[in-house]
Amino acid sequence: KPAPRRKAGGSRKSEISLLGVRLTHPDRVLFPEQGLTKLDLARFYEQIQDWVLPRLARRPLSLVRCPQGRNDECFFQKHPRTAIPDSVPRIDVPEKKGSAEYVYVESAADLVGLVQAGALEIHPWGSRIDHLEQPDSLVFDLDPDEGIAWQEILRVAGTLRERIESLGLTPFLRTTGGKGLHLVVPLEPSADWDRAKAFARAIAEQHAKEDPKRLTTNMSKAKREGRIFIDYLRNGRGATAVASYTVRARENAPVAVPIRWDELNAALRADRYNVENLRRRLSALRQDPWADFARAARPLDADLLGSVGVE
Ligand code: ATP
Ligand code: MN
Ligand code: MN
Repeated sequence: KPAPRRKAGGSRKSEISLLGVRLTHPDRVLFPEQGLTKLDLARFYEQIQDWVLPRLARRPLSLVRCPQGRNDECFFQKHPRTAIPDSVPRIDVPEKKGSAEYVYVESAADLVGLVQAGALEIHPWGSRIDHLEQPDSLVFDLDPDEGIAWQEILRVAGTLRERIESLGLTPFLRTTGGKGLHLVVPLEPSADWDRAKAFARAIAEQHAKEDPKRLTTNMSKAKREGRIFIDYLRNGRGATAVASYTVRARENAPVAVPIRWDELNAALRADRYNVENLRRRLSALRQDPWADFARAARPLDADLLGSVGVE
């Protein structure tokens, strides 16, 4: 291994090793507003690994990579190939023609491997590699148009929760680090992607129909104007949603964070938590707000599908 190069005017190393993974340019600033470096982000994941890994592990991943930092070029990638260190595990996923290789994580070292590749966002599938064709969660992604008041988002999250609970399912809540919220519903992996998406779509459409002035399930810009878009499209095969406890490539290094329903109030915001303040929250918590997630899982069976009119 060549000796580390010295930067002019400093003694900082141009590469280090963290959890056995080679991290090049550890001092590269990825989030200029906070001066947050590549090493800072790798250490963040090292520190919160027990929070992030249980739900994220063993799912095919798409990544938002910004190798030079979030203010430079970023790209959404499903198949990053050579950019990711070889130590990060891969799986071949069947596609319409042949198959395509996805990365997944199992350990904190794998998360460091993603950071090494400049991954500033981590977007998993709603299924695990052991049950690739049967999602174990549904995501209802509330996307407010500009100018929608927080109170409005809050209200819609609450009414959608009631609708989902009335079906005998349990939605869990997450801030996205961006503008909206995610309601995530645990499932026993049984129904396939097409049924899961049809089910999510039926719920979203029934909800939007009750309040068409404020809600839409149509993703066109025009239909979303002045409304909250209930984005059920996160539930198709190959679709993704940002992982809980992972960072967003946005100002302030915000993090998508599971919260309890009783934390959803006027003072909260979707970007309330970030790489700097999350640890304080986690050390004050007695348990993960999603501790009951797995226990609340139900199979998406014929009765449940039929209850919203899906065959
Ligand atoms: P917000 O609360 O701001 O809406 P979000 O994570 O829900 O945050 P969305 O734009 O609603 O952001 O959702 C986009 C989701 O779609 C992402 O979470 C990601 O998993 C997925 N996605 C699919 N294609 C892309 C792409 N090209 N760029 C970014 N995300 C993509
Ligand atoms: Mn969204
Ligand atoms: Mn969306």
